[in-house]
Amino acid sequence: MTSADKRSNVREGGHSNGGGTVKGFVRKVHSPHPSLNDSLEGEIQAFLIDEDQLHTYDDLTKVNPVTPTTVLKCLQARYRVKVFYTHAGCTLVALNPFQPIPDLYTLDVMKEYHCAPQPQEFKPHIFIVAEEAYRNVQNQLEPVNQSLVVSGESGAGKTWTSRCLMKYYATVAAASSVVNSQDTVERIERRVLDSNPIMEAFGNACTLRNNNSSRFGKYIQLQLDRRQLLVGASVQTYLLEKTRVACQPANERNFHIFYQMLKGATDEQRKEWKMPCGKHFVWLPNSEKTVEEDSFQETVEAMVHLGIKAERQRQLFRILSGILQLGNLNFSSMDESQPCDLDEQSKDFLQRAADLLCVPAEELLTSLRVRTLKAGKQSVLKPCCRAECSMRRDCLAKVIYAQLFEWLVTFINNSICADKSTWCNFIGVLDVYGFECFQINNLEQLCINYANEKLQQHFVAHYLRAQQEEYVSEGLEWSFVKYQDNQSCLDLLEGSPVSVFSLLNEESRLNRASDAKTMKVRLEKELGNNANISWDKFSKQPHFTVAHYAGQVSYQIQGMVEKNKDPVPPELIKLLQESENSLLHHIFTDKETEIPTSKGLSKVTVVSKFKNSLERLMRILHTTTPHYTRCIKPNPDCKPLTFKKEEVIMQLEACGIVETIHISAAGFPIRIPFNGFMQRYGLIAKYSHVKSGIHSIDAGADYILQRGVENLLSVVSQHEAFDPLCEDNSGKHNSWVH
Ligand code: ADP
Ligand code: MG
Repeated sequence: MTSADKRSNVREGGHSNGGGTVKGFVRKVHSPHPSLNDSLEGEIQAFLIDEDQLHTYDDLTKVNPVTPTTVLKCLQARYRVKVFYTHAGCTLVALNPFQPIPDLYTLDVMKEYHCAPQPQEFKPHIFIVAEEAYRNVQNQLEPVNQSLVVSGESGAGKTWTSRCLMKYYATVAAASSVVNSQDTVERIERRVLDSNPIMEAFGNACTLRNNNSSRFGKYIQLQLDRRQLLVGASVQTYLLEKTRVACQPANERNFHIFYQMLKGATDEQRKEWKMPCGKHFVWLPNSEKTVEEDSFQETVEAMVHLGIKAERQRQLFRILSGILQLGNLNFSSMDESQPCDLDEQSKDFLQRAADLLCVPAEELLTSLRVRTLKAGKQSVLKPCCRAECSMRRDCLAKVIYAQLFEWLVTFINNSICADKSTWCNFIGVLDVYGFECFQINNLEQLCINYANEKLQQHFVAHYLRAQQEEYVSEGLEWSFVKYQDNQSCLDLLEGSPVSVFSLLNEESRLNRASDAKTMKVRLEKELGNNANISWDKFSKQPHFTVAHYAGQVSYQIQGMVEKNKDPVPPELIKLLQESENSLLHHIFTDKETEIPTSKGLSKVTVVSKFKNSLERLMRILHTTTPHYTRCIKPNPDCKPLTFKKEEVIMQLEACGIVETIHISAAGFPIRIPFNGFMQRYGLIAKYSHVKSGIHSIDAGADYILQRGVENLLSVVSQHEAFDPLCEDNSGKHNSWVH
């Protein structure tokens, strides 16, 4: 399709300002004055949506009336005709097609958007957002860094979109080259793109909701030099779901990398990693399921490109296999509260794990089975019961995996980050987990939903600012209507002096076993007056419920404090520090480890660490111009081209599109380009100050009223009251035309 075609399509898809009778959602309005009714009906209906033409609306805020239902219908109509992108004011809505769409993301399409004088006139596309950000960096008086915030629930297409954005920049901004360690010239954009398969292999997993679900958040900054060329990048990651290493939810899998190794290893590698064919690993459930991402070769190639040497890779894979062997260690005891031992079958796995992790088998077993208690200057050895041993085993696996992941991210950064003197601006791409509400929610969901609250706050502030700027540029007088602010929810979660986080941290820093009931009593006592928190008196387990902007979520208190402490037995750290696997040794010694041990309870709780990293992120976002893309998952089963209304509406609410609509409804809900307005309301132009360029119907309304045609307004108000789809007309501004 040529650019001209696209533009004409865009025009066709315009907002039915082009005349003609518009039918559809609107009930007939019967004016008490038939003649007026006849003449006005076409005009008034022209503001309202035409069901047959719904798919042509490129911007949801221009659907009239703007309500969740009309927006939903519009998206559905577009999805039906395979149009997946739609603007929603300053946001782009991306519906997941769940099937490859040929010709939508080709090099030619990239070039078209990149080379177009006005890409925004093209059909909505993620490349418009990409290009706008790219031009913004330098087209301003002052260069401004940009952020592309991609949000949505699991499986909605965030990571896909982020990759797409990265490919766009790697294409349109490519030109530079670097010399790699083998002294061959290598393109930096290739490396930047190669960071994706590695991070996805280690950080993504097959879940019930997405076969390639990212189990961490990511902010990647693409660094541009003065010529706007991509010279490097840096990655910041957030909250890896490390528990998955040792505990995979039913019907889900562990991180991809383990399956890649299992399926992609050569015979020689299998031997070296002690992973013979047919061996069952407890921590590798559902290994019969194959997903697209199971390509070991791709991961290894990416590692080579990024400069991870063969010996380092060997060490890395040996450690990963060592982790898997740990999963097959079973402890048994006659009595649950008594010291336990390894069962017979586990002894082989212990030896293998010890060999692969390069630690003495005896010491590995002791560190899992025996706790050292300090009593004054003396140490007392206390054998652990079965549950404690299993917990220590899981903890060992989790801490190794988390540190390995961090090491990889640091390695990637060292490999792709440009020298500060060579780049001057960046475009950041944020791909973070969306709002979560499961049957049982714990600390992980609390953190994730807190992150979404922060982003929502940022979005609303930005959106309002953008709206205000538009009104100012149009010369409108405007005082802001109140909108739903989520500050009170954020105060509840992170505020000072008392908040959910502060209480959790206080409890975590006390050297005592925490009890959910006591914790609940504390929360209730300290935060009971806050309207954003409530308590389910009838639930068996202690809970608290938070009213998030996207909905209510009940959090289970049981286990929350322990998760927040996330302690690692010091015996395990000591063991790993003495490993002869130099990579393992390195990740536990050669840097300032922030691992809280159960010996010296650290101030670094999970919540405080997450809050700090999020605050850093927000500070960066505030210095950039943001662009929001909201990904929507049209059905829960990841079926191609299937649109389930209930699913979509929930996401529109959760990702703030409905909020955007509310804000836009609180402002002027209808915007007509001035020329179109003049064409349609030419008669009013007789009135001198309209001619002179006042862009508001108020003047016209005065004129009409002066002429005694009050019925016009009564017809209009009936229209608004009548509209069956207009579920929420509250907050609509009286000046319904701008
Ligand atoms: P999220 O990161 O939001 O959890 P993903 O980006 O992993 O979701 O997307 C889930 C799956 O949906 C992808 O693996 C891919 O198969 C499909 N998908 C997402 N966006 C698109 C798209 N624009 N075109 C085709 N398939 C897509
Ligand atoms: Mg993802």
